[in-house]
Amino acid sequence: MDDLKYADVAVDSPVGHARVFTYRIPDRLSVQPGQLVWVPFGSQTLQGIVVQLTAATPDFATRDILQAVDPAPLLAPEHIELGQWMSRHYRCPLFTALSPMLPPGFESHVRSRLFPSTAPHAEDGDLREESAAAIGVLTEKGRMTQRDFIKLLGRRGNRELNRLVEKGAVRREVTIPRPGVAPRYEAYLVPVKAGIPVDIKLRQRQQALLDLVRQPPEHLSLTEANREFGPKAAEALWEMGLVAQDWWRTSGGPPPLAYRGGASGPGELTLTPEQRQALAEITTALDASHRASPASAPSSPASRTFLLHGVTGSGKTEVYLRAIAHAISMGRRAIFLVPEIALTPQTLERVNAWFAGRVALIHSRQTARQKFDQWWDIRGGAFDVVVGPRSALFAPVENLGLVVIDEEHEWTYKQDESAPLYHARTAAMELARNTNAVVVLGSATPSVESYYHASRGRVRLLPLPHRVATGGAADGPAEPARAPLASVQVCDMREELREGNRHIFSRALSDALRRCVADGNQAILFLNRRGSSSIVQCRDCGHVASCRRCTTPLTHHTSPSRLLCHQCNYSRRPFKQCPECRGGRIRQLGIGTERVVAEVSELIPGVRVDRLDSDAARAAGAEESVANLASGETQVLVGTQMVAKGLDVPNVALVGVVLADIGLYVPDFRAGERAFSLLCQVAGRAGRGDTPGRVIVQTYNPDHYAIRAGASQDYHEMYQREIESRRQLGNPPFNQLAHIVYQNSDSEASQNQAVAIVEELKRRSNAQGRTDISIAGPAPGLPPRLRGRHRWHLLLRGRNLTEFLDDVDFPVGCTVDIDPAHVT
Ligand code: ADP
Ligand code: ZN
Repeated sequence: MDDLKYADVAVDSPVGHARVFTYRIPDRLSVQPGQLVWVPFGSQTLQGIVVQLTAATPDFATRDILQAVDPAPLLAPEHIELGQWMSRHYRCPLFTALSPMLPPGFESHVRSRLFPSTAPHAEDGDLREESAAAIGVLTEKGRMTQRDFIKLLGRRGNRELNRLVEKGAVRREVTIPRPGVAPRYEAYLVPVKAGIPVDIKLRQRQQALLDLVRQPPEHLSLTEANREFGPKAAEALWEMGLVAQDWWRTSGGPPPLAYRGGASGPGELTLTPEQRQALAEITTALDASHRASPASAPSSPASRTFLLHGVTGSGKTEVYLRAIAHAISMGRRAIFLVPEIALTPQTLERVNAWFAGRVALIHSRQTARQKFDQWWDIRGGAFDVVVGPRSALFAPVENLGLVVIDEEHEWTYKQDESAPLYHARTAAMELARNTNAVVVLGSATPSVESYYHASRGRVRLLPLPHRVATGGAADGPAEPARAPLASVQVCDMREELREGNRHIFSRALSDALRRCVADGNQAILFLNRRGSSSIVQCRDCGHVASCRRCTTPLTHHTSPSRLLCHQCNYSRRPFKQCPECRGGRIRQLGIGTERVVAEVSELIPGVRVDRLDSDAARAAGAEESVANLASGETQVLVGTQMVAKGLDVPNVALVGVVLADIGLYVPDFRAGERAFSLLCQVAGRAGRGDTPGRVIVQTYNPDHYAIRAGASQDYHEMYQREIESRRQLGNPPFNQLAHIVYQNSDSEASQNQAVAIVEELKRRSNAQGRTDISIAGPAPGLPPRLRGRHRWHLLLRGRNLTEFLDDVDFPVGCTVDIDPAHVT
């Protein structure tokens, strides 16, 4: 290690993606990859992460690393690798790509304190007056926080402080206070082998301390040294380079998570033949990946990536749990990703029951402190399983053997708000490659991309085609019975209208609701809200106006009244008459949950009806709503997407989809796929107990393939239609996408910028002869304004866009979303 004198550091600054800067490692520091350090950067002092050590002297002037923030590396090599990949693929600074892997909220835990310098040139005469005065105060007090000291420095205090630190006029010490649960590191003094330079005369205390440190076992705890010789002695020896500080782990882990109980634990069920087969393939892959030494060639992704395709209630979770148990039995650990913690209480309970006390649950309601402590506990090896949303993928799990991604098609796995704009599924594959771990994706309605990869043999398909009858387990080891899926009835709202029913409920749904409540059962009414109320549809024939070029639904804009394509900016006059059937009843889609609740109360006076949508969930009402439904308190639950996920309430006999069309006509090529999978999920909420389930889907478009396939829960029908249209339009999985959004408070500026980007990209693709590249847009985004900023966007399609975009500079205010989940 001695010849590794330089470090490549990812600096916390908005620099180009994948960029690192080289710093010299001063002799007094021992720095390792993964360590968080302070470095000078321009006139600032910034945090950085060491990604690599090098021996070769760079042919340019380097500056020194100032200080390590933490005694030990915070990031493991596989996480550094993952960050490097994310930085390149998703085009963000390397530090940004690595930051989700750092202890959560660690910035707020970092404390900088200043000490008077003991170095000789501290009294130099060339100090500013304020600085000299500030140093005077510091010397008197012995130590100060950085904030207080900067105040004394007056104007440009930050800069001046950096100058003083660099000059050695003051000393800065940075610490991350460890959580109080268990002390994990202790500082030790160890001798530096170089020997005393002749011209240094030590004081008595210093000499005594040095002698003690040099005695076998050649280390002394800092606490002890400070107690016996005073803190000044150790500090002086350290500054003279006679001793070094080292941090060592101390034993003692955190207390285990309490066992909550209630759910069925390991080994109580007899697996179905399909479950057995799926599990066998996964465990075989786990065994093989375990035997492979890190040095041997990495196994192909196909041999250790699986897609477990099974309808709701087909026993996927049972397979995940047993696979995790197998990984643990080999001394490896697992990460279990779920789309939304608040809505998967049953899954969480089962994980807890299986692996009592060994499960770390990551969720958004934890305090910053809890998250921080938990990170260290996971890192300390206190848990075998980490469960959480997409960010749980980055938990510091050592010896990772298995990553499970439940409901892999869910868009919540894509971070689409702040960089890195990663997809947890893609990132998981990358992490698995670095760690030789096995990945199990599971879904009742796999994403078209995943299923395509499975059909091409890049991912192993494990089908669970039947629903398991839950009663079967009690009968002992006999094979569990198959339970039927709920029956789905499609209700044509055009017909209702023709027959004079102008309510939002069809007669079938009204009757079913009344009967359901009268029978003492429960109902869920589902409303897709992620959609747009500004899409226009003919109420007579169900026709929705679409763009001829993009097949994207057109959106209605008032003032001036136009229909607009939000992909390619095509616009036209609104229809007065339906171009399909010549009917005159054109209207906009859209109903709110409040309206549905009101109509239910009117329909069934005195009914106990509750509402669950994303607003309510944000107010932490989701869990309560779920609990009230489970206890039977709520008779009818009205909700958006959220109700479709994970609810498993046996007494729900009826599910109504109030208007299936809304989700169908979002101007996004994935709208059909999403509408289908929501219908399947919603239908899966019904009939989970002994009562046979009934599902009613209301639509103006009963012939739409997504509705038909959703109603019959026929994944293959949907998939065939989708993959064909993806092929034709050049959408994923046949191409990669980049969604480029420009936002500005000035509408014209944002449009001009978007136009300029398109021209630049076209020039490039022509120059490079990239015939695979195509650009849709620029067009106004949907919504065209967000938080007071105008949005213009464009969509880039092509192969290997990462490479194509690599050295394109996008202006500030422009977001480049690679592999976007939404393209509006
Ligand atoms: P999924 O994750 O596909 O929705 P689950 O694993 O949650 O399916 O299984 C649905 C229900 O069936 C659960 O209550 C589970 O305990 C039960 N179950 C799963 N596998 C079996 C089996 N082999 N025998 C009996 N019951 C089973
Ligand atoms: Zn268009």
